[in-house]
Amino acid sequence: MSVTQQQVIEALKRVRSPRGVALPDAGVLSPITANDGKVFFSINVEASEARAWEDTRAQAEAAVRAIPGVAMAMIALTAERKAGAAAPPPRQGGVQPVSAHRPHQHPADSPMSRQAAIPGIAAVIAVASGKGGVGKSTTAINLALGLRDLGLKVGLLDADIYGPSVPRLTGLQEKPKLTDDKKMIPLSRFGLSIMSIGFLVDEDSPMIWRGPMVMSAINQMLRDVAWGTLDVLVVDMPPGTGDAQLTLAQNVPLKGAVIVSTPQDLSLIDARRGLAMFRKVDVPVLGIIENMSYFQCPQCGTRSDIFGHGGARHEAERLGVPFLGEIPLHMDIRSTSDAGNPVVESEPKGPHAAIYRTIAASVRDQLKDAIAAA
Ligand code: ADP
Repeated sequence: MSVTQQQVIEALKRVRSPRGVALPDAGVLSPITANDGKVFFSINVEASEARAWEDTRAQAEAAVRAIPGVAMAMIALTAERKAGAAAPPPRQGGVQPVSAHRPHQHPADSPMSRQAAIPGIAAVIAVASGKGGVGKSTTAINLALGLRDLGLKVGLLDADIYGPSVPRLTGLQEKPKLTDDKKMIPLSRFGLSIMSIGFLVDEDSPMIWRGPMVMSAINQMLRDVAWGTLDVLVVDMPPGTGDAQLTLAQNVPLKGAVIVSTPQDLSLIDARRGLAMFRKVDVPVLGIIENMSYFQCPQCGTRSDIFGHGGARHEAERLGVPFLGEIPLHMDIRSTSDAGNPVVESEPKGPHAAIYRTIAASVRDQLKDAIAAA
């Protein structure tokens, strides 16, 4: 059953806004996307009013979800800050202008403690990169598989809104089904519980993501998904260190972050920015992985350090973060990933799988208190 914009507007007419009129008449709605039972739009207000509108946003979401045929509703509150006006302090969930001034912090009010843990998940970790194309997603899935091989229950959340790769890396295409209480059921592949923004958004109708919308989408994929019990949830982050990434790092209850970099100088500069971003929001950096570290000839096995390998290791030492390992640039890693059967799964006894498992063991060791406490 397809849902129309008009049906959404009708449902929203029953929601009153803080301006005393029905929500569609308040002049705050973005265009509404209603596609395949998935409804997206934002409510745009000034930052100073955002708190008063949170309730309205929640009511609007409930009203839209109650429309027959709606599989998911993602409604973001977009707070624009007037020039010169003070932004409200950050809040849990909802919208948060990332540039907002943070009130003086008490240790118990650190960004980590402000985010509610996700019931059933012992540790959420991010796999991040300072820029796209360095192999972040390939690393994220192989790391998740390496953690699985260590006997852990692992989930993978592909939060790369700009280019979700998990459908390609796993061959999964289907839409998640819903539980009776309207939670999405993650897809299952290789023994991993998997959720991707790519399962929800059509590739041929790309969305324009505004910062707060990103957070609404991610929150939904974290909290409105029936993850069950997991030792580790690996989050494949959007590449880069912009506002969307910072908001994510700030709002997701992360136990740590892994940064993927290539050996080239430029990429290392980007990786350094990534590191600074996580430090800013008090998320521990579990380490740096150098991907495409050296070229390994698929025919003769000879190794060539075409990018002047070793940069990430030095950088990690200099910055005082663990260096987790080097992954070669190898045809098998590319071809298996692109065929939907990543190398740790397809060649479990091979040398690449062994590298990913060593990295996974180091990550697991750093998370063991959280895993043991769950
Ligand atoms: P990102 O998530 O950083 O954009 P991807 O993981 O999608 O990067 O990787 C980009 C491309 O590089 C993909 O085609 C992938 O198969 C390939 N790739 C990633 N890591 C390696 C590697 N170590 N060796 C060979 N190809 C790789």
